[in-house]
Amino acid sequence: EGEAVAMTAEDKIDGLSLSIRYEDRTLVRAATRGDGEVGEDVTANVRYIADIPQTLPQEAPAIVEVRGEVYMEKAAFAALNARLMAEAQATAEARGEPFDPDGVRQFANPRNAAAGSLRQKDASVTASRPLRFLAHGWGVVSEGGLPAQTQYGVMKALERWGIPVSPRLVVCADSAAMLAHYRQIQRQRADLPYDIDGVVYKVDRLDWQERLGFVAKAPRWAIAHKFPAEQAETTLEAIDIQVGRTGKLTPVGRLKPVTVGGVVVSNVTLHNRDEIARLGVRPGDRVIIQRAGDVIPQVVDNLTREEDRAPFFFPDHCPECGSEAVAEEGEVDVRCTAGLICPAQRIERLNHFVSRVAMDIDGLGDKTIREFFALGWLDKGPADIFRLKAHRDDILGREGWKEKSVDNLLNAIEDRRQPDAARLLFGLGIRHVGAVTARDLMKGLRDLHRLPAKAAEFGAYRADHPQGEPEKPSPFAARMLKAVKEIFEVTTDGIGIAVGHALADFFHEEHNVAVWDDLLGEVSPPPYVVEVKASTVSGKTIVFTGKLETMSRDEAKAQAEALGARAAGSVSAATDLVVAGPGAGSKLKKAAELGIEVIDEAAWAEIVKSAG
Ligand SMILES: [Zn+2]
Repeated sequence: EGEAVAMTAEDKIDGLSLSIRYEDRTLVRAATRGDGEVGEDVTANVRYIADIPQTLPQEAPAIVEVRGEVYMEKAAFAALNARLMAEAQATAEARGEPFDPDGVRQFANPRNAAAGSLRQKDASVTASRPLRFLAHGWGVVSEGGLPAQTQYGVMKALERWGIPVSPRLVVCADSAAMLAHYRQIQRQRADLPYDIDGVVYKVDRLDWQERLGFVAKAPRWAIAHKFPAEQAETTLEAIDIQVGRTGKLTPVGRLKPVTVGGVVVSNVTLHNRDEIARLGVRPGDRVIIQRAGDVIPQVVDNLTREEDRAPFFFPDHCPECGSEAVAEEGEVDVRCTAGLICPAQRIERLNHFVSRVAMDIDGLGDKTIREFFALGWLDKGPADIFRLKAHRDDILGREGWKEKSVDNLLNAIEDRRQPDAARLLFGLGIRHVGAVTARDLMKGLRDLHRLPAKAAEFGAYRADHPQGEPEKPSPFAARMLKAVKEIFEVTTDGIGIAVGHALADFFHEEHNVAVWDDLLGEVSPPPYVVEVKASTVSGKTIVFTGKLETMSRDEAKAQAEALGARAAGSVSAATDLVVAGPGAGSKLKKAAELGIEVIDEAAWAEIVKSAG
């Protein structure tokens, strides 16, 4: 046949995939469709999305599964973030606490806002969020129930049944028409009420779609034509250097504000010294910046590299304390060498110490830490936090503090006098001692007070037993690991040689010992007890993979341990359960091959909840 292959073309909305099943013209089930494997039942939530009809007209087939995207309009997204900010401020004021705008949860983009709003355990929260829906196709349809012979015809039928489809859905007779439609949508992109990331073409005739079939899970008859990443040209006005908790110097580019895909961008990350050298950027250069998805905007090109301009020298001294800043051999990051002397590092360490994942002291945000630090009240390190009560009257005299807010803060601090030993240890920010390592250490040691002596013992061992002349690297490493395990009384697999060295190094420094002694004079962590609750996963081995949306990986592992399960890093025949979030890749595949049960984050939350 010489018939041209007509294609439909429509904008590809950047939302959350949803599948809605109607039986006897009544909505019975709605599920997210993530990466195909793990679907989450969101039927209760979907009942609050006005775009989605609860029933279909008589014309519709007995069974039909509609597929599309849940999304939030750009304006609604901005309003939601503004509302969350205002609510947090009102709550802080009602409680008499200082308001810290940086601590308020904000959604990064409309897609995240839509996902977060749809996947609420409490469907009434979903109801308060302005979610919308657009259909782009269908799944199962009862025998003979398709209302048309073409893609376009079926989509128009869905529209007749009250299901929204894109107003930019058209049929193109040939490739020239497809490209013209693509260009038109690209021009409209910034003005559309929602984010899109390309155009999707589909073979219009359904019998031809059927003949083309599927490759793996992707149809051969549909093609996504993505827009290039959104870019804009502007001037790099300055390069600022920020100093982090570990002393790392991070360059941040300050831009002449420019709109990229509907968002005003005024800062870009420049990553590190090498990246600045690669781009050859200097303040004053014209640059191309790019925004792609959630990624922080970055500089992709320097347009005025050849122009004569003063070069930018990456600082060899810390901009905060003036100490030398160097990159260790083989590392790209430049770090301030002053450690605890550097005010920027000290502030970031205090922020880490009080953070939710460490000591979790309510009401002591970055703003307050900086304020008290500038007054000299936190000079001696974290122990000073527990002496803030001596400044009660001074705090009261400061702007923004009231009787109630000061008492709330001081009470929150007093609440941590008997802290969890692992959280306290993690809060000190010792290299290689993350939240999980801290817990693993405490499981063996039980009493935190024993740690300095153990660290000194390992320090002495490594000094007295260096790698012998005939000793090969691997027996040496095995011997060191054995020493670490014995000396630190390690009962789990997670502690390696690096942890032993880091602890020995830390307690070798006199000022660290002083900070430690001072802190343990203020707080008394009780002996560490691993509380294990009986649960359906007790004794099982669990692997977490993909992006977890409501908790960090460390928190998930801690939950598993508290339920008597073991969290492992890779999927094997010994794995009992895989908890998979969006973006889970090879581990999910392996689990399927091995026939291991896979659940999503919401199902995991249910297990945790039911254990009480
Ligand atoms: Zn410094």
